Formats: sequence, C-alpha cells, structure tokens
Amino acid sequence: MEPVIEPRASRFAHRVRGVRVSFEFFPPKTAEMEATLWEAIARLAPLAPSFVSVTYGAGGSTRERTHATVKRILAETALAPAAHLTCVAADRAEIDGVVRAYVEAGVRHIVALRGDPPGGVGTRYAPHPQGYRNAADLVAGIKRLADVEVSVSAYPEKHPDSPSVEADIDMLAAKVDAGASRAITQFFFDNDLYFRYLERVRARAITVPIVPGILPVQNFSQVRAFAERCGTSVPAWLADRFSGLEADVATRRLIAAAVAAEQVVDLVDRGVTDFHFYTMNRADLVYAICHLLGVRAGAGR
Ligand SMILES: Cc1cc2nc3c(=O)[nH]c(=O)nc-3n(C[C@H](O)[C@H](O)[C@H](O)COP(=O)(O)OP(=O)(O)OC[C@H]3O[C@@H](n4cnc5c(N)ncnc54)[C@H](O)[C@@H]3O)c2cc1C
Repeated sequence: MEPVIEPRASRFAHRVRGVRVSFEFFPPKTAEMEATLWEAIARLAPLAPSFVSVTYGAGGSTRERTHATVKRILAETALAPAAHLTCVAADRAEIDGVVRAYVEAGVRHIVALRGDPPGGVGTRYAPHPQGYRNAADLVAGIKRLADVEVSVSAYPEKHPDSPSVEADIDMLAAKVDAGASRAITQFFFDNDLYFRYLERVRARAITVPIVPGILPVQNFSQVRAFAERCGTSVPAWLADRFSGLEADVATRRLIAAAVAAEQVVDLVDRGVTDFHFYTMNRADLVYAICHLLGVRAGAGR
C-alpha cells in the first residue's frame, strides 16, 4: 500500500494553530519615535501576544524611558509587559529599586540580563563593585524581591564573551537554577544552529522553553553590522538575497518578508510553537509573518 503523505502545506496548517508570539520594543527617544512605537503597538496588540517586552538601554541609559513605556502599556492596553533590566553601572540597591518600582506599577515579568560593558561591545565587562555580578545573580536578586516571571537570554551561536557554547550553557543553567522560566534567543538566520543548540541545552537537562528570537531584516546593512557585534552569523545566501537592492526599499521589504516567512515556516515544521519578534518598533513585517503563522486578531488561541 502507498504511504499516505500529508502535503506540507496541510501539515503546516495543523501546526500553526498552537502558535504563540511575543513582541519586543525599545523605548522611544523623541516624540516622533514615540508616535511610531504606539502605531506599532496599536497594530500588533489585537494579535494577543503572550507578552510584549521593552528593552533597557545600554548602561541603564533608558531607565526612565523603559519605565514610562512599560507604565503606558499597562495603563492603555490589555497587554502583559515584560521589562528588561541589566546589571550594568548600578549597585544592587539601585537595581532593587528599579525592580520594586516595576512591581508597584503592576509589572509581573522581567527579562534579566547582564548587559553590555559600559565601554561598549568588545570591551571587557567588569561588574559594578556593589552590583549584581552577572545575569544569574540578577535573576536570584529579582526572585528574592518579588514573585515575578523572569526570562533570560540564550545564544545559539554563543555569546562573543564566552569561550565556548558549553560555557554559555553553564551560564544558562545558572540562570535557570536561579529561577528563570524562559530563555529568549539572540536572533539567528540558520535554523540548524538553533536546533543544534537546543539539543545541547536539553542534553544538560535544562527544560525551560528556549524561544527563538526572530529579527525581520528591515535594513540589511544595519542588521549585518549588528550581527557582527553580537556574534550572529550572516549566511552568504542571505547577503545574496539583499545584494543589489541597497537603493530599492520596496523590493527589500518583499524579500525581508519572504526570508522571515521561510525561517518561521521551517521552525514551525520542525515543532516550534513560540516566537519572540524583535520588532524594531515597526509592525508591518511582523504583522504579516504573524498572519502567516495563523496568529490573527480575534482568533481564539
Ligand atoms: C533576548 C535578549 C534581550 C536583550 N535585551 C537587552 C536589553 O534590554 N538591554 C541591553 O543592554 N542588552 C540587551 N541584550 C544584550 C545583552 O545585554 C548582551 O548580549 C550582554 O553582553 C550579555 O548579557 P546576557 O544577560 O545576555 O549575558 P549572560 O547570559 O550573563 O552571559 C552570556 C555569556 O557570556 C559569558 N560571560 C559573561 N560575562 C563574562 C565575562 N566577564 N567573561 C567571560 N565570559 C562572560 C557567560 O558565561 C555567558 O556564556 C539582550 C540580549 C538578548 C538575547
């Protein structure tokens, strides 16, 4: 008898039903950027994300703006915000003060990070003498102060400071032991790297969700420079897809949608159900990809 092979499109349709998404925003610097952010939030909110996160600028530079953005999300939307927080350039008392202020404002989820050195990526990280030593120490500190959900970072291609993937996974294990219940990955373009990493994480009996962070490529040259700083590899096929389109924004956007669609469809095909999108405060591409994933306004999930 011939085996019955379900067509790929149909398999995908079955799987997309359970997909959950979250969105990351950064706090705006100007009134114009604030308007752009809120347009994006208004467009994406009906998709009922599991949570929306707001980043914390390098060296705590956006402390007030992160707080203000999170507070406005709580006041004006039904979304569950997650506030990012880093250990950089602050002592424990200051960081604890930020955590308490979030909790008082109604925040129930913190994304806890070490952060980049004040001298910038590539310079040596030295913890503040009275500060939290690293992300695991920060997770433990947050958990001592409040019963909130804590997410942390994960690096499928290893963090640039880390001597090896295993050392990176040691840090992930320490963060989970300290109370983190989810890891969100640095963006990546080669799904095989994510699955290889996942295998190594599971082999260490780390069972928390390792949610892939997806960066739709709004601007390829910016993404390439950013990827270089944070240790994400940019495959030749990706560069090839954008080559020659430097002055052609409209085609670039179509290619970006196709590239991200291809990536998430493959991840769903291989069993991934949760996605975290780096929105760069723009809704369009993310909205389209969510539509493709079956994540739609009013769709009961
Ligand atoms: C999902 C996500 C969200 C982020 N949000 C923000 C944000 O809001 N604000 C911001 O400023 N940054 C943010 N970052 C970037 C992050 O702060 C940097 O990558 C930072 O350099 C590492 O912080 P971490 O908590 O990810 O690192 P950790 O998980 O603490 O460390 C990463 C790796 O580096 C190794 N390592 C750490 N310190 C040292 C050291 N001194 N010597 C040798 N190895 C070391 C660890 O062992 C580990 O392997 C984010 C990253 C991700 C993936």
